[in-house]
Amino acid sequence: MIFDTHAHYMSHRFDDHRGALLAGLPGQGVCGVLECATHSGDAANCIKLAEQYEWIYAAVGIHPESLIEADTATVARYHGDWRAELDAIEPLLAHPKVVAVGEIGLDYHWPVPKDEQQALFEAQLELAAAHGLPVSIHDREAHGPMYDTLRRHRPKGVLHCYSGSADDALWLTAQGLYLGFGGTLTFKNARKTVEAAAVCPLDKLLLETDCPYMAPEPFRGKENNSALIRYVAQKLADIRGLPAEEILRITEENARTLFNV
Ligand SMILES: [Zn+2]
Repeated sequence: MIFDTHAHYMSHRFDDHRGALLAGLPGQGVCGVLECATHSGDAANCIKLAEQYEWIYAAVGIHPESLIEADTATVARYHGDWRAELDAIEPLLAHPKVVAVGEIGLDYHWPVPKDEQQALFEAQLELAAAHGLPVSIHDREAHGPMYDTLRRHRPKGVLHCYSGSADDALWLTAQGLYLGFGGTLTFKNARKTVEAAAVCPLDKLLLETDCPYMAPEPFRGKENNSALIRYVAQKLADIRGLPAEEILRITEENARTLFNV
């Protein structure tokens, strides 16, 4: 069965067909989805979705890009005061369907002020630790500061859409972190990601979509959804020399262990 550990079904891109799409997923082998919020406005909607579907769980948190996007709650409602926004999010962590803090992390691709996003990330790592929750981590072009932060905080959680090296995969998993692999694993230029997926311990592997983005081959560039994870599982199966069914079984079990569901 497919457990998608990183999705954004509340994205506006799904507005005109969300219900029909989600209704069809269990019939295509999807048994679990972690819906990840990117700011406080999103968080309430993600929780509503998780209340509506028994097999959907929610992660709530503030994505670093939310510090610069004008239509996010961080900017539009809290005027960039992420500490106030985090205070508003904290009560949501007690909701029974909230199983992680996310999506949080560091993004050096977009012009997000580095000190601000670092402080926001660390505040959320502390919040997760205080509530005994795992984290779903975004790391875009920020490996150095990310790994330094992880060494200091030692959170439990997953590096979603893992883009680091095979060597880094080994020490990250040795300290208990999970690595999420999605559509990028199937892309032609994925040599480095394939090398990481080849050495990641089986009990630290997770599958994900990051939908609506990152659809695997042969759907690259199109809208992604959790059912397409079977193409990522097949690629991982080829890399590891295991049946795809076994990869799906292992990654579902890993997701249930990490998120305690
Ligand atoms: Zn995401």
